[in-house]
This record gives sequence, C-alpha cells and structure tokens, in this order.
Amino acid sequence: MNIETRQERLIQILKKKGITEEPVLEAFRKVPRHEFVDSDMYVKAYDDTALPIGHGQTISQPYVVALMTQLLELNKRDLKILEIGTGSGFQTAILAQFSLRVYTIERHRELGDKSRVKLREMGYANVTFRVGDGTNGWPQWAPFDRIIVTAGAPVTPNTLAAQLADGGIMVIPTGSRDMQELMVYKKSGDELHSYSAGSVVFVPLIGQHGWDG
Ligand code: SAM
Repeated sequence: MNIETRQERLIQILKKKGITEEPVLEAFRKVPRHEFVDSDMYVKAYDDTALPIGHGQTISQPYVVALMTQLLELNKRDLKILEIGTGSGFQTAILAQFSLRVYTIERHRELGDKSRVKLREMGYANVTFRVGDGTNGWPQWAPFDRIIVTAGAPVTPNTLAAQLADGGIMVIPTGSRDMQELMVYKKSGDELHSYSAGSVVFVPLIGQHGWDG
C-alpha cells in the first residue's frame, strides 16, 4: 500500500471517530506523518496509534491530534497559537496550516532542535521554537488566541490561563500521571468556562507548574 492510500485510510478512520471539520482532515492530507518518525516506523506512521520518538516521549495518536485541533476551532487564519510540547513537530505542522504563527516550546533540547530543523526543511516559516519549561508559557508573545498543551498536567497552570486572549480557547489534558481529562477552556472577559472532551492518556507535563521530573 502506498503512502497516499495509507493516509486516506487514516483520514477515513478519523472521520468515523468524529473528526468532521474538513480543514482538519485537509491538514492531515498535507502533513506527511511518516516524516516525523524514524524510518523503521514508516509502515506504522498511518496507523491510528502513538509511536515512540525517543527520550521516553511519543508522537501523539493521530485521532488525538485531530481532536485537539478540531476543539481549538481554528476558523480564522490570523490566529496566534502557543503549543506546549513540540515533540516530533507533527502537531506543530498541523497547527501551522491554520495560524498566522505558532509558538512552540519543548523541554527536551534534542527533540526541540530536531523538530525545528525538520519543519524548516519542510518550508514552515510561521513557527517560532523554544527549548525550555512550557508551563511558564511565553509571556513575551502573550496573549495567545489558542493554547494547546500536548502533555498531561496535574492541574491547569494559572500561568497559561493568564496568557489566553479574551475569546481564546485552550485545550489541555489534566488529571493523574496515568490518565487525564481533555479539558477545553474558553475565555470570555475575566471568565473561563470549561468542559471535558473525554478521557485521554498523555506523557506527563514536567515543569514548575506541572509534575516533578
Ligand atoms: N504533539 C507532539 C507530537 O505530535 O509529536 C507530541 C508531544 S509528546 C506526547 C509531549 C511532549 O511534551 C514531549 O515531547 C515532552 O518532552 C514535552 N513536555 C513535557 N513537559 C514539558 C514542558 N514543561 N515544557 C515543554 N515541553 C514539555
């Protein structure tokens, strides 16, 4: 089976699981997931599973990437997005299809550097990378229209909530180290409304406002 066929098969799986937003599915057609994993995992790249990327970290399951992207309601082109947990850079590349600029932070230098080089090679000019503790957000570029956290936090860091713009949306898994609820926050003035989009399993968010390393 060639890559296009595998990719289309994955997109049909995403549709069946409830990813209905055509721009999200289109972003999955444009970003080749096999480019974000080691070559010995190419054949699994279009399965709907998380895969190892080194340092005990994973490239998230495609359905979860698609769900989080859909929950962010990326319906305007000029959005400023903060992503915590660059990992392989796959989710970053998906977000970059929609936004004016993605600001992404990864705590592992090797992963952060690798994804920066990868996305530059692939021609993404609208992504700003940083290596460090993302639980502090990125005050220099705040407020953000959207914030996405791709690692599980014990609670939602106030630092991130404070950096969300009025009318902004934040998606973050919170809960125990083993299982989390995928929380969606919408900011309206001083108020933050939230709901859970379901249970998920993420690697821990490690940092000052997350878990101990
Ligand atoms: N979205 C990524 C992808 O598609 O490859 C998956 C990221 S992986 C599930 C979570 C990432 O969050 C890991 O690379 C981990 O090192 C990173 N991480 C954990 N705590 C962090 C923190 N405080 N700041 C920045 N990155 C963090």
